[in-house]
Amino acid sequence: MQKTKVVIIGSGPAAYTAAIYCSRAMLQPLLFEGFEAGTPGGQLMTTTDVENFPGFPEGISGPDLMQKMREQAEKFGTHIVGEDVVAIDCSNRPFIVKGSTTEVAAQSIIIATGAKARLLDIPGTHEGEFWQKGVSACALCDGAMPIFRNKDIYIIGGGDTAMEEALFLTRYASHVYIVHRRDELRASKIMGDRAQQHPKITILWSSGIVEVKGDKVVTSVVVKNLKTEELSERPAAGLFFAVGYEPNTQFLPKEIEIDDKRYVALHPGSQETTVKGIFAAGDVHDHVYRQAVTAAGAGCRAALELERELSAL
Ligand code: NAP
Repeated sequence: MQKTKVVIIGSGPAAYTAAIYCSRAMLQPLLFEGFEAGTPGGQLMTTTDVENFPGFPEGISGPDLMQKMREQAEKFGTHIVGEDVVAIDCSNRPFIVKGSTTEVAAQSIIIATGAKARLLDIPGTHEGEFWQKGVSACALCDGAMPIFRNKDIYIIGGGDTAMEEALFLTRYASHVYIVHRRDELRASKIMGDRAQQHPKITILWSSGIVEVKGDKVVTSVVVKNLKTEELSERPAAGLFFAVGYEPNTQFLPKEIEIDDKRYVALHPGSQETTVKGIFAAGDVHDHVYRQAVTAAGAGCRAALELERELSAL
């Protein structure tokens, strides 16, 4: 079995930053970038312009930013494996990390598997109904599909993702409706203002979608006003979920504690999990900040803590 000092699991800003630090510290990390479980590169692969990552005054596309981080990690000696990790055995040290085909014995691990888009249980949205036939959780991936051209599109959510996706979808849709359950946005002011000022975007406040209907593809949505309980069926070609994320922690063993929302629990003031030698960084533990730059910071902290812990062994 292959042996290594460090396995890093994930391929977003936290994982690549940890890899840059570990490889510069000559730890020759092995990074599982994922294959099936999530897009390699993480959520930024489905983000358009990143305008708040320092160093890019003109903005940078999410995929370009990830590509640069990946190149930087490889340049210093990170070995990248294009597989998902399916299980970790942490009953003994070295820990055993099991990929889809590769098995590695690792002295330490950094978990940076991020989070994935949350879906809602709305009739008509599931697999076998209109999922991927007008229903999606990724505007950047699916927004350019011909079925959406010059048609009305609906997005559920009131956060930055909903605003960003609505703005992106105005390129294709005749009109974009943001359906938000409250009468106040969660999104940052700049993103909220941008969406509200756009002539092709309307926000349906205190509303929800209770059903998606169609034939071969989506043709309408049923919107419920949550204050008056009034229902209205509206023509629509698509429905996009933008209602937050769920951490990718399903493959973790019971020794690595997760909290009631399934985020990895850390020792206060540290990136270390409940298992000594196993660290976590990024959206997999952070439900507060969830920014590329904070994930990168957490990746750096995890790498520095790991390096210290390894040198004390
Ligand atoms: P978020 O901030 O958690 O917002 C999720 C939205 O979905 C909220 O408005 C929430 O409503 C709504 N929601 C959640 N569960 C719902 C349900 N069961 N039914 C109906 N609505 C529901 O998630 P996000 O927008 O994906 O953003 C995640 C993080 O990424 C944030 O920190 C954000 O700033 C960041 N981000 C930044 C950018 C950027 O700067 N370019 C772009 C995208 C995301 P309530 O408001 O009522 O809770």
